[in-house]
Amino acid sequence: MRRTKIVVTIGPSSRDPQTIKSLIEAGVNVFRLNFSHGDQNYHRENIEKIRKISQELNIPVAILQDLSGPKIRIGEVKTPFTLHQGEILEIYKRPITCEKIDGIGKVYIDFPEILDDLKEGDLIYIADGLIKVKLIKKELEKIVTQVIQGGVISSKKGVNFPGAHLSISALTEKDKKDLEFGLKMEVDLIALSFVNTPKDIIECKKLVEKYQKKTFILAKIETQKGVENFDEILKVVDGIMIARGDLGVEIPIERVPVIQKELVRKCKEKGKPVIIATQMLTSMINSTMPSRADISDIANAVLDGADALMLSDETTVGKYPVEAVKMMAKTIEEAEKIYFFGPEECQHVSPDFAIAYSSCILAEEIGAKIIVVFTKSGSSAMRVAKFRPKALILANVHNEEVLRRLNLVWGVYPYMVLSESNNVENMVKEFVKKAFNDKIISEEDTLVLTMGYPIGKIGSTNLIRVIKNDQLKEILSQ
Ligand code: PGA
Ligand code: MN
Repeated sequence: MRRTKIVVTIGPSSRDPQTIKSLIEAGVNVFRLNFSHGDQNYHRENIEKIRKISQELNIPVAILQDLSGPKIRIGEVKTPFTLHQGEILEIYKRPITCEKIDGIGKVYIDFPEILDDLKEGDLIYIADGLIKVKLIKKELEKIVTQVIQGGVISSKKGVNFPGAHLSISALTEKDKKDLEFGLKMEVDLIALSFVNTPKDIIECKKLVEKYQKKTFILAKIETQKGVENFDEILKVVDGIMIARGDLGVEIPIERVPVIQKELVRKCKEKGKPVIIATQMLTSMINSTMPSRADISDIANAVLDGADALMLSDETTVGKYPVEAVKMMAKTIEEAEKIYFFGPEECQHVSPDFAIAYSSCILAEEIGAKIIVVFTKSGSSAMRVAKFRPKALILANVHNEEVLRRLNLVWGVYPYMVLSESNNVENMVKEFVKKAFNDKIISEEDTLVLTMGYPIGKIGSTNLIRVIKNDQLKEILSQ
């Protein structure tokens, strides 16, 4: 079974029921809804379809709500136009018709207040860095820039101000409304875009708590500030997305691979899930044959130890969404054949982590292929995953929400929703019988089990148990 998980962005190319079904069957673990596009109705439809199909297939998948954040965009452009080097582009604060007149490009942006934070000489990037302009004059109602690197301007293209110190919060008014909607729809994970400081996360956390939810919050790292403040952000967040699209514009692109490795290492160290996103399989947007570079990128991300890899354009507007997922899954499986499994040296960890660590060592020593984790909040399963055991981690939980959420985590297979019980023997019995019937385990297997005792108390994992094959047979015969 594949350890590294696949996150797929749903969009026009992938939102019909048949494609959703094929995507789940091809191995999608998490569906991402990109709130930069589409209205709430559009997303509601997608959520309902995904949930229904996942239930019919009896394959759990998680839904990740990706909030737009202060992604700055230019307005609608009726007729796309080309800007050449040396030409002038004016960026207005108020909505105007975006067009090119007499050789001068005119656009507006949706966060006009930002223009006040800029100064002469600042560089501005448009369309993921394809177009580069330099601020030459600030005026009351607009800024005047000169094109350094030309390209085509079309509707709603993203604008980046690398390095500029911008004073906008990661949670916009639109995000707050979307978040409320997402929580009502019971999304499993929330990603916050353009996180710069821990404060951004704490603000979001408060809202989640207000709605009495335990939804995981992921910080998208895609700015220079986000990278600088990473250690502090990691302390308060549930997981990370390395958002290479904007990151590659906000910082020198050649630093992206190194930062990816560094951030993945830090996430693993803390046992928090990390997604690597954007341009993992761009070559498959229009072709069934990927580039060697894309395939290597996927394999290397696996070897870095990421929890999950994400597809965006490949599955939203690409021609081959299902083929892209299949290709990604195959490449992951191949890379995992040489993955360096097993705990790295474990020092000074809390008792909870020590139990997780010991269960991995134990499984390795006695050749157990499965570590069974009984967990209420899912955190015990995540702690086991931190040590990247070769054994599969089967998580047994008490509710669907936790079950779905764990789909994001490396090596964890959310398996069963157990009836609440305070009898250890009954729980073990329930698990063994179902797993045997589902052909997840065989009579010859040895299992390592971890759980908390007394049962049901969050954060109390304190018990490791080995079930050898003779005991397994005994339970099955009861
Ligand atoms: P986006 O985030 O697709 O929402 O921009 C991912 C990225 O920036 O890489
Ligand atoms: Mn982004």
